[in-house]
Amino acid sequence: MNRKEYADFLVPNIQHDTEYYEKKYPKRNLKEGAIVVRVAPSPTGFVHFGTLFQGQVNHNLAKNSGGVFMLRIEDTDQKREVENGISEIIEAFRFYNITYDEGPISKTEEKGNYGPYTQSKRKDIYGAYVKSLIEKDLAYPSFITEEELENLRHEQEVSKSRIGYYGRFATDRNLPMEEVIQKIKNGEKYVIRLKSPGNFDHKITFYDLVKGKVEMPENDIDHVILKGDGLPTYHFAHVIDDHLMHTTHITRGDEWLSSLPIHIQMHEMLGFEVPQYAHIAPIMKEEDGKRRKISKRKDPEANVFEFKKQGIPIEAVKEYLMTLSNSNFEAWFEEDETKEIDHFPITFEKMNVAGALFDMEKIINLSKNFIARLTAEEFFQRILNWAEEYDTNFANILKKEKQDAIRILNIERGGIKPRKDYSSYSDVHKNIWYIFDEEFHPKKEEYEFDKITDPEEIKIILKTYLEKYYNEEDTQDVWFDKIKQMTQTLGYAANMKEYKQNPEKYKGNVADISTVIRVAATSKKQTPNLYDILQILGKERIQKRFAKWM
Ligand code: GLU
Repeated sequence: MNRKEYADFLVPNIQHDTEYYEKKYPKRNLKEGAIVVRVAPSPTGFVHFGTLFQGQVNHNLAKNSGGVFMLRIEDTDQKREVENGISEIIEAFRFYNITYDEGPISKTEEKGNYGPYTQSKRKDIYGAYVKSLIEKDLAYPSFITEEELENLRHEQEVSKSRIGYYGRFATDRNLPMEEVIQKIKNGEKYVIRLKSPGNFDHKITFYDLVKGKVEMPENDIDHVILKGDGLPTYHFAHVIDDHLMHTTHITRGDEWLSSLPIHIQMHEMLGFEVPQYAHIAPIMKEEDGKRRKISKRKDPEANVFEFKKQGIPIEAVKEYLMTLSNSNFEAWFEEDETKEIDHFPITFEKMNVAGALFDMEKIINLSKNFIARLTAEEFFQRILNWAEEYDTNFANILKKEKQDAIRILNIERGGIKPRKDYSSYSDVHKNIWYIFDEEFHPKKEEYEFDKITDPEEIKIILKTYLEKYYNEEDTQDVWFDKIKQMTQTLGYAANMKEYKQNPEKYKGNVADISTVIRVAATSKKQTPNLYDILQILGKERIQKRFAKWM
């Protein structure tokens, strides 16, 4: 067997050679300085906040440089793959409106000329390159079992040697071809390992776009490149993919920084140009005074669909992602209102080297601000969309009582200092339910009367108000004047200053009177502007609600 036949024997059923693939995926025709990036999640759990973060960062890098942004699914670890993992990734990008130029758009379809964009569909491609390495004697089959590896590790620990399959420990390196062929014919299982030419005592220097200059020992470990199941390892797959997809900048989590020597070596062995790397710090959490990576296991908010469920507008989440990316984002975004997050010219230099702290309170604040700037109609529509999925009962009421809902949402909206009392769509139901008759069934003890609690006194106030002072047509000023008049008539202070000076002269003050009216009409002691609430309710409903209480 010559080496070519040997490679065919070790990696059988590969349709094409590397030349074919090099031609199939020609250099991209892009303008000078265009950045080609990808986000490359693995479908091994829920879609992580960090994936969205990298997606948005990459999207902006590509968009602002006239480049290309790809989504690539890295599903070579099929043991860890979860059901719907891939569809959820696609859905997350769709939901958050982070559009990629190339990548899978459903389980079966994808867009772009550099695909397939799902690694499990690229077996033939990886096979071609593995074969090319075997032909050049830069890769070899290895039969060493898990158990043998475990023993090796133990032996290395005892002899205080560096752990790993390298140098003199990498015994399968030198198996003669005949022996290999015989083993395989006997049905022995094998993987393909890289024949690393590295020397651990040599240092390599590399410039990472975020971390700056990094110096590490060369790789000398014979890493597995093709596993027993015919799929490549991450190390090998990403090198091949990013080469053929012409990725210019590999942005990824900084947990990969330590593997960089392996990746640089692989690029060189394959004769590929080494792309730029930008290792992005993870989003952190503080727990018991210590910082740790935000985790899939411990932090529900690490799941991107958690914000959806909570009804946080995607705009607020994206704004937050951008604040995490570059420290100058906020100043840029606030310059003028027409700015769009997607146009922010993100730079590697301004990225956080250490890892930004996740701040839920900040997301809530951004959400409040965003919601406060929506028109009541827009807000209504968004709440309805949310409720259709998460609170169908409320959705039905909203559809039926659209006018009332919009009116209550509109209170103190607009203007330079809008009210900021809604932090999410899920917040609305518990804030406005009382306006809808379908929902207004408070029990006697649920009325939140405050200073004035004597039922007789309350009855007098409500009756007097309805009979003598209430008129649906009144403007807010007239309405308030009348409340003050009534206040005085009933022995309360209409003027707060006077009341504070001589509280003993009065039964209470105008605020106490308003509270009685507010609580009788809504059962709650805090609502948006009372005049507006009464206007929305209208005469008939006010009468009914007062009567209901009495
Ligand atoms: N699939 C890898 C991960 O999820 C991606 C790393 C990369 O972007 O190259 O960590």
